[in-house]
Amino acid sequence: MTGEKKQTAQSNNIRAAKLIADTVRSTLGPAGMDKMMVDGGGNVIVTNDGATILQQLDIGHPGAKMIVEAANTQESMCYDGTTTTTVLAGSLLGNSEPLFSKGLHSNIICKGYRQAAKWAVDHIESTAVDAKEYLTHVAKTAITGKSLETSMEHVSALCVEAAEQAKGDIKRIRVIGQPGGSLDDSHCFGGVMLNQTFLTPNMPKIPYGKVLLINTGLSVKKEEGVQVNLQSVSDIKSYKQYADKDVWQGKVDAIVEQLPKGGVVFCRDSVNELVAALLAKNNISVAHRVPPSDLDALSTTLGAPINHSADDSLVAQKSEYLIEQKVIGDMDYILVEGDRVTTLVLRGATRQTLDETERGFDDALGVVCLAYNSGRVVTGGGSSYVGAALNLRSRAAEIGGRAQMAIEAFADALETIPATIAENAGFVPLDTILALRNEHQQGNQDAGPDIENGGTCSMIEANVWEPVGLVRQAILSASEVSISILRIDDIIGKKSDD
Ligand code: ADP
Ligand code: MG
Repeated sequence: MTGEKKQTAQSNNIRAAKLIADTVRSTLGPAGMDKMMVDGGGNVIVTNDGATILQQLDIGHPGAKMIVEAANTQESMCYDGTTTTTVLAGSLLGNSEPLFSKGLHSNIICKGYRQAAKWAVDHIESTAVDAKEYLTHVAKTAITGKSLETSMEHVSALCVEAAEQAKGDIKRIRVIGQPGGSLDDSHCFGGVMLNQTFLTPNMPKIPYGKVLLINTGLSVKKEEGVQVNLQSVSDIKSYKQYADKDVWQGKVDAIVEQLPKGGVVFCRDSVNELVAALLAKNNISVAHRVPPSDLDALSTTLGAPINHSADDSLVAQKSEYLIEQKVIGDMDYILVEGDRVTTLVLRGATRQTLDETERGFDDALGVVCLAYNSGRVVTGGGSSYVGAALNLRSRAAEIGGRAQMAIEAFADALETIPATIAENAGFVPLDTILALRNEHQQGNQDAGPDIENGGTCSMIEANVWEPVGLVRQAILSASEVSISILRIDDIIGKKSDD
């Protein structure tokens, strides 16, 4: 491999990665701007969310794709911090360039970066505090700068309520958007809401009834390979009666046997009207075409098993709660109360604002659950990154040799996070970094960028908090992807997988 070729592949990758970072950097922080994304068909998304922007970008360069992958990992593990990860990876790669020109080998840079990431994470974890009283602030920090901000108090309270109800298990929280109304009308419902109606109208409220979940349908199956010769209308009638009775009566009997005093049946597939009517006679209501995710949620909230066939050995569950059909706004819902699943009902004026609201809510909910589960938080605004940078500089000599230059480059990259937050709020990044270094040197570990007046301010007083797991993952994702990119010295075409 010639030195020139190696440099080209490396610098191409670095350039592409920096370009991606530059695309999203202006959205970082509470004063970050939004991006309007338009595709060939004229479809528009307006968003401030790093993950959404990166997912929608039309990216061809392999180096850039790796950065997007790192951001996706961050999103799937922590629900937030994607812009931070991308900007940090861009800075780590950008800061490696002067090291290359000074003659450092990429192995040395990678060694330094790997060590620096570990030290930075260790330092940040050592400064974390108990999350309990800060959950609302964690939600607010995640929401700032997003469209949800207009209803900050209400939204953050909802996120904490949902996270506490679900005991930090995000899988037990469902978010549904309902066009109409305003964000302030959003609320939490203890149980599952299905955007459905019962097949039999005038369903009474069903308190404490029995419920059957069936993972198939109750509709006509074509009898294959059978030829029936019908000669008259009465033949047709009697055949239909015979066929229907034959096909249905067994199923109806099995269901009625399980729900002798009436109840509710939820089916994943469609249900024949005749069956619904037969069941209605026995006070049994049926909802059909229930999506699998809704069926799972019902199973969780009711503690009911999902029956995989409608024929035999059906197992019903007694519900301790109310099941009712209700019109909310101008839509029909079936409400199934329960305490194991929480549904967040988001209201918004238009579908487009509602989509952005849902994205923001997903992030905020995820972050609050993360804080709830890990139980530890640190001050935000990039303050923990400044503390870690200071710590890295004081320890750089420990590693010895040229790798210490890489440790210092890593420390500089960490500082780009608060610097970019300040820059996006209209302040000079360099001044902010210098002021922040000064504050942290004096022991003010919570000093972060003041986005209102410039300079620095206390993140504790500004109530800006993040789960420590979010910061840890952002540093690890960014350093890992940077190291992977720095280790690539050539790009070679390969055969397609298929
Ligand atoms: P990401 O995709 O990385 O989450 P955001 O645009 O959501 O990017 O910005 C998150 C950063 O903004 C975090 O570092 C967070 O601590 C910081 N932040 C949030 N609110 C404030 C604030 N009021 N002052 C300073 N920084 C803030
Ligand atoms: Mg965020």
